Amino acid sequence: MKLAVASGKGGTGKTTVAVSLALCATGNVQYMDCDVEEPNGHLFLKPQITERITCKVTVPVINEEKCTYCGKCRDICRFNAITVFGKTIMAFPELCHACRGCFLVCDEKAIDEGEREVGVVEKGSAGSISFCHGKLRIGEAMSPPLIKAVKKHIIKDALVILDAPPGTTCPVIATVKDADYVILVTEPTPFGLNDLKLAVGVLRKLDIPFSVIINRHGIGDDRVERWCAEEGIDIKMKIPFDRKIAEGYAKAQPLVETRTDLRASFEQLLEEIRQ
Ligand code: SF4
Ligand code: SF4
Repeated sequence: MKLAVASGKGGTGKTTVAVSLALCATGNVQYMDCDVEEPNGHLFLKPQITERITCKVTVPVINEEKCTYCGKCRDICRFNAITVFGKTIMAFPELCHACRGCFLVCDEKAIDEGEREVGVVEKGSAGSISFCHGKLRIGEAMSPPLIKAVKKHIIKDALVILDAPPGTTCPVIATVKDADYVILVTEPTPFGLNDLKLAVGVLRKLDIPFSVIINRHGIGDDRVERWCAEEGIDIKMKIPFDRKIAEGYAKAQPLVETRTDLRASFEQLLEEIRQ
């Protein structure tokens, strides 16, 4: 089973929840940090990394000896990664999304395959938990290929906890699109509600079952709860706003170690989702 933990908004406690679920799950468990721009699950799980795999994408390299400057490659590229003017052609590999469209339309076979490194996948273990995350190369803008590379290491038959990037754009879709269930972590503030609505819209479009966890319950107002009730969305847990939790977080202590009393709630949640 693939269980993704996502949030429309950054800083809501997504990793706190994902790590807690991994620590409370029994059997074969894998934690995957797909927040490749800023992975931080390793700070809490402290895994031993045993394998590093460089992730590269294929980018065009123009062979000007064969090129007729027809412009077909430029026209098909939605990302302006190729320009052609007169008898000059230029490729900008850092803008390339590796869709391979230009390779397909070039009748002259004037485009060779080059490589661009996008980041690294690291694998290891944290106690009995299998661990995997991606680290995007500094300056790299395109994270979905690295997220896909991370997900290639999903262990079949394990309970896989996918820690998704924040937001509702391509990196989130790349993470959650084949998940069996998604937990949306939000906070009871107007910003939390706004971004929760966007995330719910995406999941409904993808037709993935989901429920909500409210973090820092006690701050803000009850608009998130009222909206979830109106929409028929299940709120599975409310994590209290507690200074002790914030202090534990600052020391990279997992939530279920700072507040051991919350362990039973996470165990029950996993049981409900599994059923
Ligand atoms: S499609 Fe091929 S031949 Fe045409 S401009 Fe691009 S590289 Fe050159
Ligand atoms: S592979 Fe796709 S994104 Fe990259 S330059 Fe070619 S058409 Fe553009």
